[in-house]
Amino acid sequence: MPTLYIVATPIGNLSDTTERAKQTLAAVDAILCEDTRVTSKLLSVFGIKRTLVAYHQHSDDHDVKKILEMLKEGKSLALVTDAGTPGISDPGGRLVEAVVRELGETVTIVPIPGACAAIAALSVSGFPTDSFTFLGFPPHKKGRQTFFRDLVEMSATVVFYESTHRIEKCLDELNANVPARRIVVCRELTKMHETIYRGTAADVTERLKKTSIRGEFVVVIAPR
Ligand code: SAM
Repeated sequence: MPTLYIVATPIGNLSDTTERAKQTLAAVDAILCEDTRVTSKLLSVFGIKRTLVAYHQHSDDHDVKKILEMLKEGKSLALVTDAGTPGISDPGGRLVEAVVRELGETVTIVPIPGACAAIAALSVSGFPTDSFTFLGFPPHKKGRQTFFRDLVEMSATVVFYESTHRIEKCLDELNANVPARRIVVCRELTKMHETIYRGTAADVTERLKKTSIRGEFVVVIAPR
C-alpha cells in the first residue's frame, strides 16, 4: 500500500529528531521537502541519502499531480517542512488535503510526531491548555486590526506565530488591545538564544528591545 509519512523535524535543536523520524526518512523512496538545502543539511547529519522532491508554498497543481502519481505507483513518501510538524501553518496541510481528496483510502497517511513550536510554547506558558485557540500567523495587512481586536473577547488561551519583522508591531497591537493581559513570548525555542519573556505586552516590549528583536517567535496570551 502506498504510504505518505508526515514527519516532524526539529525547530532548532537537531537532537529533537526522533528515532522514528530518522528510520522513516532513511527508508522511504523519496522525501518531499520545503527547501531541499535545509533538508539536505538535516539528512547529512544523520548520514541519510534519499531522493528529494521540492514541495513548498509555490508548488502548483502540476507538482501535486506528480506527487499523486508517485503514490499511485506504490511509492512510499515522507513529507517534511523546514522545521516542526508539517501542516501546522506551513504548506504541508495542502498536500495532505489533496492526497485525501484524490486518492482516499488507497494511500495510508502516517504521522511521525515530534517538535511543534506552538505546542512547545504552550507547554512552558503556565496558562491553561485544556482548551486553547491556535491562530497561525496574524494577517500582514488586511484583517490585521480585526485579528488583534478579536483577542479581547477570547476566553481560551491563544497561541500564534509572528515573524521577526513584525514582532515589535505585534506587541504594540497587543498593548493597544489587551494591555492588562499576561502574555508569554517565546523566542528561538530549542536554539542557543532561546528566551522566554513573560509579562504584559509593554513589559515584554521593554525587555525585548534591551536584548534582541531578531529570531523566530511564538506568542501566547492568557485567557480573558
Ligand atoms: N510547522 C511548524 C511547527 O510545527 O512549529 C511551524 C511553521 S511556520 C511556517 C514557522 C513559524 O513557527 C516561525 O515563523 C515562528 O513563528 C515559529 N517557529 C518555528 N521555529 C521556532 C522556534 N525555534 N522558536 C520560536 N518560534 C518558532
